[in-house]
Amino acid sequence: MAILHPTANTTDRTELVPSHEGPNVFPNCSLFSKLLRHARRNRLAIRDVNLSLEKTYGDILSDALTLRSFIATALGSEIILKIEQGEEVFIGILAAGGYEFSVAVLAVLALGAAFVPMTVSVPVKEASYFVTKSRQPLILVSSEVVELGKSITSFVSQRGHPVSTLEILPHLPPTPTYEPLQIVLSANRRLDDNRAGLVIFTSGTTGRPKGAVMRRAYCHEAALAIGEGYDLDHHDVLLHIVPVHHTTGLGTSFFPFLVAGACIEFKRGSFDPAWIWNRWLTGGFTTFSAVPTIFLRLKWYFERELAPKLSADDLNRFVQAANQFRAFMCGSSALPQPVQDFWTDIRGGRPILTRYGATEFPGCLKVPAECGPVPEGCVGLPVPGVELKLSDGDHGELLVRSPYMFAKYLYDDAATLAAHDEEGYFKTGDIVRRNGPFYFIEGRASVDILKSGGYKISALDLERVALGLPYVNEVAIVGVEDEEFGQRVGAILTLKPNSLPGNDLKLEKLRQDMRKELASYKLPTLLRVFGTGELPKGGTGKVQKKILGPELFPSNWREIREVQRWERAKDKGPVEQGGHLIARL
Ligand code: AMP
Repeated sequence: MAILHPTANTTDRTELVPSHEGPNVFPNCSLFSKLLRHARRNRLAIRDVNLSLEKTYGDILSDALTLRSFIATALGSEIILKIEQGEEVFIGILAAGGYEFSVAVLAVLALGAAFVPMTVSVPVKEASYFVTKSRQPLILVSSEVVELGKSITSFVSQRGHPVSTLEILPHLPPTPTYEPLQIVLSANRRLDDNRAGLVIFTSGTTGRPKGAVMRRAYCHEAALAIGEGYDLDHHDVLLHIVPVHHTTGLGTSFFPFLVAGACIEFKRGSFDPAWIWNRWLTGGFTTFSAVPTIFLRLKWYFERELAPKLSADDLNRFVQAANQFRAFMCGSSALPQPVQDFWTDIRGGRPILTRYGATEFPGCLKVPAECGPVPEGCVGLPVPGVELKLSDGDHGELLVRSPYMFAKYLYDDAATLAAHDEEGYFKTGDIVRRNGPFYFIEGRASVDILKSGGYKISALDLERVALGLPYVNEVAIVGVEDEEFGQRVGAILTLKPNSLPGNDLKLEKLRQDMRKELASYKLPTLLRVFGTGELPKGGTGKVQKKILGPELFPSNWREIREVQRWERAKDKGPVEQGGHLIARL
């Protein structure tokens, strides 16, 4: 009898049976598999203080499915086909942290596309750069910035890039379309975790912000790794007050908590220490994650507003409120030791858990929750799976290779290649010292990268915009050491003769003019006008920022009459200017 040999065993069942998709079906991937489990357990996912609403994982998944179908319609079949074929399609999200943002993110990921978070304090011109650079066909817009969304689309469309907007909130039904039991994961092959999941625009040393493309794995695998050192789980409740278009608000304070099944309470708007302290008093949190400037301003509020005015008993209530948190986490720039000491002291000896990483390599060094005391100034220990090299033994530029790294800079192979050494390590540009397992950040190799209020800012980006102003002859942007911001953005300018009355420029005007092109957090907060001639140059004919910066902005710059400075309107409540990870979100 002839034996029937099956054909070669190479055909996957998914090639034989109909594709499994539908309005209630999420792609087959770890992120949605995890979130669905939380939905089935009816866990609380998001509290949105500004919208006064609370949503479960079931709600958010159902709403993401609903929004996904509106997005698909708005994109049209041609773009949907591209996505299905694995092509990269980038969809903008113009929303501060909150429920609308969260649903939009999940809807885009559920579609297999990638999202581009954009700050709501972005000027139209800067947004248009993000939109065109990532070739967005669509921007999802939160209810608070509908007008801004319209301005961006008309600006960009007039310049030949067709883009439309979709408002998020009006497309969410009053009650969820699907119950958790009705939501399923596709039986198709797993969606490739290497696909682009999102783009974070970040400042580099070469001028305009580069789009760091993160894989979909960023939203799940990397998030698990980042959350691991903090022992996150579904009992956790996070107060989320940092912007979500930055790796701190997204990679450290959004996805890790979401995949852990925790609850995220979003509060957006201007940074308001009084609100935060009073909210802490009401209680219900386990974790708080922020940048050093926030911890400093909360410390100031305690010392200046609470301690002098309250009775010992009342003050103790605030101390207890700070102690409800099992973990305080901080990264993005150096945490000054007095700030660390203050919080360690009022929290019964529990230090802030510091971490170090960057947009391109999130979660690289960390002080884990279970770590115990580390030497003063230590930023952390290597995260499992991450490889680190120092250019000169136990000192020098830090080079990083990790499974959680970015995939590439958007449409810029040359920059992607240039960012790595010959062994494929990312060149961080940070000067670091190692002592046993402990790492200490000493500073940056380039004077052209500033860190202000947690944000990475390119001096060249600002210089480009300043040079475009009709009255600016020459400009040098320098970082000026500062307790509050880490670094302040200092502008040194010479003016074109007779371009301004009395050859006099006020910082206020410079900020206003630059604000048309740059988000507020990038604007100079210090100015020194150096007449109408030339800026002093070194032997090579270049401005030597390392010399000129400290010369014109010495440590006692506050006492120098020629130094103009910008301050937050501290006593006027929430500040309009905002922007430093802490101000206007
Ligand atoms: P970003 O891509 O905006 O997150 O900026 C990354 C850069 O922030 C790093 O290359 C460092 O220069 C700086 N940075 C991040 N975390 C820390 C930290 N804990 N201490 C000092 N600098 C930090």
